[in-house]
Amino acid sequence: MAEFKSKILIIGSGPAGYTAGIYAARSGLEPILVSGTEQGGQLVLSESVENFPGFPHGLSGTELMENMRRQAETFGVRLVNDKIVEVDFNHRPFECSSENHDVFYADSIIIATGASAKWLGLANEEKYRGFGISVCATCDGFFYRGKNVVVIGGGNSAVEEALYLTTFARSVTLIHRRDSLRADRHLQNKLFNNPQIRVMYDCTVEEFIGRDNPPAIEGIKFKNVKSDKTEILPADGIFIAVGHKPNTEIFQNRLELDRHGYIKTMPGSTKTSIEGVFAAGDVQNPEFRQAVIAAGSGAMAAIEAGRWLSR
Ligand code: FAD
Ligand code: NAP
Repeated sequence: MAEFKSKILIIGSGPAGYTAGIYAARSGLEPILVSGTEQGGQLVLSESVENFPGFPHGLSGTELMENMRRQAETFGVRLVNDKIVEVDFNHRPFECSSENHDVFYADSIIIATGASAKWLGLANEEKYRGFGISVCATCDGFFYRGKNVVVIGGGNSAVEEALYLTTFARSVTLIHRRDSLRADRHLQNKLFNNPQIRVMYDCTVEEFIGRDNPPAIEGIKFKNVKSDKTEILPADGIFIAVGHKPNTEIFQNRLELDRHGYIKTMPGSTKTSIEGVFAAGDVQNPEFRQAVIAAGSGAMAAIEAGRWLSR
């Protein structure tokens, strides 16, 4: 068991965590960053990131996150490949324990543990991730100009994604497992009034269909649960929008969370319900799940933590 002490402990190695690290290190705060099991965060799942400023030709998510890691290390962020499993915010310094049984004492903490998109868990889903299956229309919609796409889900996210995709796609089919949508009425009205969108109710996806070498999605096999009939719907892209889950299990009963489990932060700030604990990125922002926004809030958290430490 090793003990680590720092002024700032950053939990998470996505865009929010690395950016917080870069800012904190450049302020001389010698942060420690615990990476978690997904080094680089969600973006490493993306084959191509075209909307992160500074890269006119785009780059892969892995490359972008590798750049951020190297930049953080250049400025002296101490990276530890481990996962925090327990936090104690009741006394100071704060205390966090890790999977490797190490203990991290810190005067302030920046939580940047992100959120995870829910997937359907079907065979072939993993194979076609990034090759026609996406969980982010804002990120990948651009690649489907003039194509036929399917959105799966019936909540606000699914309806917003379907509407957004009409900017690019020739046709959008929204497939929902029940006979009515969960989305807010005003979004449903927009959906029903858009001639580019077709809604299919009572349908569950059974299988993703595609080709190999290179992998590319070609359609889905779905079942109408009322008629029990199975059919194939050709599609160039599938957008899964069945919800996200914030990575906040270890913060339950330690910090104020909203009813979906996201960390509550003060408006216009990364301050949480505990003084000295800050939260940045997707873990506190279900609305704008984008790398540049996560990075921006990581910078905010480092600045706010620095001010708090020198209060
Ligand atoms: P995340 O990237 O989710 O990182 C969370 C980090 O926390 C991970 O490193 C994880 O290991 C760590 N962690 C979690 N729990 C613990 C723990 N207990 N202890 C220690 N560490 C922990 N956005 C764009 O702007 N452009 C795109 O093109 C784009 N494409 C995307 C494609 C895909 C397939 C996906 C899934 C998302 C995409 N996004 C894109 C969204 C973007 O990836 C996220 O908005 C962004 O990664 C959020 O950053 P974050 O730092 O808040 O969290
Ligand atoms: P959500 O409200 O939980 O909706 C998820 C949808 O996916 C539901 O329709 C659900 O079906 C469906 N679903 C879940 N698991 C499925 C599975 N395995 N197979 C097929 N379908 C499945 O999630 P969300 O849409 O991401 O929204 C999350 C929260 O953010 C909500 O509170 C939402 O209001 C909010 N939000 C708000 C806005 C806005 O106000 N503009 C935009 C986006 C999100 P069932 O309906 O049958 O359960």
